[in-house]
Amino acid sequence: MRAWLASSLRVPSACADARDAVLRARVRALAPVLAALTLGWIALDAAVMPTAQVARIGCVRVAIAAALLALSRVRRHLSAATTLRAFVWVQALGFGAIQLLLGHVDLAGVAGYGLFPFVIVAQLALFPAPWPHTLRAAIAPAAALALMLGWAGPPLTPADWRDAWLLVLLVGVAAWTAQAQLRLLVELLGARRDAGHDALTGLANRRNLDKRLATEQARALRHGTPLSVLMLDLDRFKRVNDEYGHAAGDTVLASAARALADELRAIDLGARFGGEEFVALLPDTPLDDATRAAERIRRRIAATPATYEGVEIPVTVSIGVAQWNVEEDTAGLIARADGALYAAKRDGRDRCVAATGSDAAATPARG
Ligand code: GH3
Ligand code: MG
Ligand code: MG
Repeated sequence: MRAWLASSLRVPSACADARDAVLRARVRALAPVLAALTLGWIALDAAVMPTAQVARIGCVRVAIAAALLALSRVRRHLSAATTLRAFVWVQALGFGAIQLLLGHVDLAGVAGYGLFPFVIVAQLALFPAPWPHTLRAAIAPAAALALMLGWAGPPLTPADWRDAWLLVLLVGVAAWTAQAQLRLLVELLGARRDAGHDALTGLANRRNLDKRLATEQARALRHGTPLSVLMLDLDRFKRVNDEYGHAAGDTVLASAARALADELRAIDLGARFGGEEFVALLPDTPLDDATRAAERIRRRIAATPATYEGVEIPVTVSIGVAQWNVEEDTAGLIARADGALYAAKRDGRDRCVAATGSDAAATPARG
């Protein structure tokens, strides 16, 4: 029970940004619609109320619409949770102000007004959120309903009790729906992550690498910046499997991948190319710098033996480095890095070799 409670309260940090984006997008879409409806309702007021009252309530309605529109504009500066709370409270306070302005009129009986608290609660179902957040946001419409029922004066009639129960029921449905939406979002993001990553090492997979490579090539071409790739292959890895077993080999692979990821910058991408081969994508990096980075990675992997069942298993890596030449396609770039890797293997392994040849023309001209 406690575990369920904790998990339902937590929004994984990797998903918090996506959830906030959904929340803000929904406020942006809903706020203008609600503002228009709030203003349009003045026509209905005019049909059932004296002109002086319509004018006073009209002022509140204009204020509600203006606040909703302002909220849809400033939402980037507010946290998503504050945006949602403000979105609900603006409507509930507006309703409260109308009730106070009208004096002792039972709003439940006035065209449409009785629906106000329920409409606000229904909106809460549209925002993915942990259920306690939805319950907290529901305090506003609940207060609005309490005000409306209390205003008509005691005793509470059966109809009042019906309204109160209906609100509680709707709050429950909204909280459940919001929580379910959040869970779906978390699962969707997890599935999307899995689809782009290798399960054993956690690095990007081939599909992810291909996509990112295409993006980085387009960026390099546009901004005239250099783009380099490293092709890494663990040395004599077959021997690791033969000597220590496949499971130990997997541990070595994961450990080397971690060392690679640790040495890369945030803008780089480390990917598992296949088997015991990795590719690192280094945007905005010329061949010399990429070779220095490769050397750093090579030393780091050699200095970080994996530990499997208490036994340290050392491993070394050979690395081919190539800078993208604008005239070659992705396959050509990978083939040149592979050629340099082959030369590193041939020269004795545990070393880095930079691809030569067309690299002199590799940096696209700036400007
Ligand atoms: P070289 O220095 O020439 O690269 O020698 P090598 O033994 O590393 O080269 P080779 O390509 O012949 O062997 C790679 C081995 O990597 C063969 C395969 O069993 C192993 N391998 C590939 N994928 C995995 C994996 O996911 N887990 C484990 N444990 N081993 C893997
Ligand atoms: Mg290999
Ligand atoms: Mg190998």
